[in-house]
Amino acid sequence: MSQLLDGKLVSAKVLDRVAAEVAGMPQPPTLAVILVGDDPASQVYVGNKKKACERVGIVSQEHLLPADAGQAKLLALVNALNQDKNVHGILCQLPLPKGFDYDEQALCRAVSPAKDVDVFHPENVGKLMQGEPELLPCTPAGALELLDDAGIDLAGKHVVVIGRSNIVGKPMAMLALQRNATVTICHSRTKNLSAITRQADVLVAAVGRLHFVTADMVKDGAVVVDVGINRLEGRKVRGDVDFDAVAPKCSWITPVPGGVGPMTISVLMKNTLAAAKLQRRK
Ligand code: NAP
Repeated sequence: MSQLLDGKLVSAKVLDRVAAEVAGMPQPPTLAVILVGDDPASQVYVGNKKKACERVGIVSQEHLLPADAGQAKLLALVNALNQDKNVHGILCQLPLPKGFDYDEQALCRAVSPAKDVDVFHPENVGKLMQGEPELLPCTPAGALELLDDAGIDLAGKHVVVIGRSNIVGKPMAMLALQRNATVTICHSRTKNLSAITRQADVLVAAVGRLHFVTADMVKDGAVVVDVGINRLEGRKVRGDVDFDAVAPKCSWITPVPGGVGPMTISVLMKNTLAAAKLQRRK
């Protein structure tokens, strides 16, 4: 039977480390979160980020815009936060409301790279590609923290990532490559997916489809990292991996909930701290 990569536990350790550093700073860092519209799921995510800030001593600002605010108002707010020396991290909660007329690339470019704690700005993505990131992509770096905590070294391992999004799949592959893994990225056009995933020493699922990864897709003894969040009826969430069937085969596995999810927020706190330190050094 596998061992759990426990996101709640590891996330608490990361938050404790951030809190200890923040406590030693003359001024705490500030994270500005922009929420457009009143989507309940987004409100929950923003609330969780606020709680994490409170836990580590980071000041959180909430900037609410109505769903019909339009791109010009959103960009004006981002620009004002870019100029504000008291703000160290800026995060715009995505997705924006349906029908909100905006250009995602323009929004990613609008946030100052120094304050881009989501690591969406092309400059930060470029630094990541070159192996010199100053801020870390939250979800993939959170997954790595879990592996590090368990003492799982990626060097020489075959890491297979299912999913190639800019938020999860691609940066996950880059971080694994930087840890000297041999990396394969799979996507919806990949042929013979199971034949590839069965070769994985470490399998990362970032698809967004409930129970997509079945036991026959996983090698005995593999490490399985489930990034997926799939909402069932009510408030229940499950991952991309058929946990009950897959867990008996692997050495380590993340649960959903309680795996990668909590890690994403703790890396966000780490990034806000890192951004504040970098800005104060300049
Ligand atoms: P996304 O942008 O929709 O990307 C999904 C990826 O899965 C795409 O690259 C897609 O391939 C691939 N895919 C879809 N069907 C496939 C198939 N049949 N075979 C192989 N690959 C397939 O989603 P995302 O933003 O990366 O998020 C993925 C999941 O992670 C979602 O459930 C999301 O909610 C979750 N998530 C969790 C966290 C967290 O904090 N835990 C953070 C972010 C996201 P194509 O590129 O070819 O379409």
